[in-house]
Amino acid sequence: MARPVGRFAPTPSGYLHLGNLFCSLIAWLAAKSRGGEMILRNEDLDVERSRKEYALQAQRDLDALGLFWDQGGDKGGPHSPYDQSQRFDFYRVQLEKLEAQGRVYPCFCSRAQLHAASAPHASDGELLYNGACRDLTPEQVAEKSRARSPALRLRVPEETIAFTDLHYGPQAQHLPTGCGDFILRRSDGVYAYQLAVVADDGAMGVTQVVRGRDLLSSTPRQILLYRLLGYPVPEFGHTPLLLASDGRRLSKRDGDQSLSGILSRGYSPGTWWGAWPIWGACCQNPPPPGRRSCFPSFPGKSCPGRTSPCRRGCSGWDDRDTLCG
Ligand code: GLU
Repeated sequence: MARPVGRFAPTPSGYLHLGNLFCSLIAWLAAKSRGGEMILRNEDLDVERSRKEYALQAQRDLDALGLFWDQGGDKGGPHSPYDQSQRFDFYRVQLEKLEAQGRVYPCFCSRAQLHAASAPHASDGELLYNGACRDLTPEQVAEKSRARSPALRLRVPEETIAFTDLHYGPQAQHLPTGCGDFILRRSDGVYAYQLAVVADDGAMGVTQVVRGRDLLSSTPRQILLYRLLGYPVPEFGHTPLLLASDGRRLSKRDGDQSLSGILSRGYSPGTWWGAWPIWGACCQNPPPPGRRSCFPSFPGKSCPGRTSPCRRGCSGWDDRDTLCG
């Protein structure tokens, strides 16, 4: 079987929190336990929210935990650059491929118009676009273009996309009602995550996408983009999100549970591997001394299911009871 290629793709809008680290760990194990490679890509598309300092700290955190990568970050590699902010020319070419298929149209709706007219919401709480600009005539486009620059949207087909998630099992989404016509490039010229992530994973030869559950509902539209752009569709595995003890989702912006915070509570990177609650589910007691000793008991390509015991070997963690969901 071909060696898997996985990736870490953090957005440098804050320090990696416990949930990001958990997801990174599973992504790393899923690739490395099968002799694969890992790519580190810096998803700094939105320069206003991204800071170099966070990207560098993400590398230091992954490094401290022994989650080594083979390409990207300080290593470079055949698909350089690995910073999305440096790849806009490449995204333009990808967008042109979609334009050539008649799939892209300009959208002049303001944020206020979108909010006023876009109910009901798509499955992930995003606004479902009502298609107001879907069928503008060339004259209307020319006239509206004089007043404001448009965003660009993908015209989604009347299709249901199904796939099997490595962790959550069979999934299906009817595109028009599940995600609607989605944005490929914002009106300020910044490429959308959905286009950039597919183009990059496709071009970088990623075969296995392991990431947080918050992106599960984005996967069907991404599968559509893989097909339209002519890239093989990778495997997808979404990991449960960690919650804070008050039930809130961890957020980079809140500075929640950064690695330095965790280490300051008395955990060394070495003990992190043993103390991590997921080892209670992955491995037998006693906790393993290092990451490679977990390979034999890592359950294949996915993370452990919610039926696994999540509380073993995790004393001292605020999140020990809210891991699986
Ligand atoms: N850049 C995204 C994040 O930091 C992850 C995107 C992905 O894995 O597809 O949340």
